Amino acid sequence: MSEEEVNTGYIELVTECPFCGGVIPDDFECIKCGAELLEEREDEKHRYVCSICRKVIDEDVISCPHCDASFV
Ligand SMILES: [Zn+2]
Ligand SMILES: [Zn+2]
Repeated sequence: MSEEEVNTGYIELVTECPFCGGVIPDDFECIKCGAELLEEREDEKHRYVCSICRKVIDEDVISCPHCDASFV
């Protein structure tokens, strides 16, 4: 008997770092380049990423096109 393993993840809202272009899970400091991001930035971009593979996805998908994780 084989059980199909489905990765269940969730869609995570992240901020795109204006300095290095990486996406970061909180709005205050970039974990990639160390830049401090000010809370009141109006030009910051929000992105949605897969919680499993951390790649950028659309906000309304039900599964990740990159790693097939399910968000439902
Ligand atoms: Zn950065
Ligand atoms: Zn994924």
